[in-house]
Amino acid sequence: MTTTGVPRTFGRCAWHEAFAENVRLIQVDEQGSGAGGVRYACPPCRDRYGLVPLADRVHLAAPAFDPIAAGTSMLALPRTSRLTDGQRDGEACPWCGIELTTRNRVDLGVRPGPYGIPIHPWGCRSCVSRQAREAYAQHPRSCRRCARDPYSCGVRKLWRRLALETRPAGGEHT
Ligand SMILES: [Zn+2]
Ligand SMILES: [Zn+2]
Ligand SMILES: [Zn+2]
Repeated sequence: MTTTGVPRTFGRCAWHEAFAENVRLIQVDEQGSGAGGVRYACPPCRDRYGLVPLADRVHLAAPAFDPIAAGTSMLALPRTSRLTDGQRDGEACPWCGIELTTRNRVDLGVRPGPYGIPIHPWGCRSCVSRQAREAYAQHPRSCRRCARDPYSCGVRKLWRRLALETRPAGGEHT
């Protein structure tokens, strides 16, 4: 009743299965339960289970980044036989060739390479962002699910999220 200025969100915590204060939206990986989607979690449960609210995920440090979950392992690369060794090993961006630092690079996942040797490329942030936006724009043309209902397509959602998360922080286009 005297909660002036304190934002409160009441909701059902899916982890301890009861109503709680200050619940936050958590992303649930779709592989696990089959259900997937989002649930709410209260602060004690977030601590206990190490849950990261969806809105905070964007600010996570690089080690927590999962190229498969984020979709970057699905981004189409230039022909791998034309890449330099540095581009295959994450030292240079496979698209623009810029030298990568631990601050600007995005994990593109381990991929099949020439002669059966796996490669592990990383991309610069602005190229990954551009590739994600392109994939997001191009995708519906070749997707049957999107033709029926674009809002139910998981791939489209993945590209959309990646494009948003890799958006230049300074606002390149605004
Ligand atoms: Zn809880
Ligand atoms: Zn680049
Ligand atoms: Zn689709």
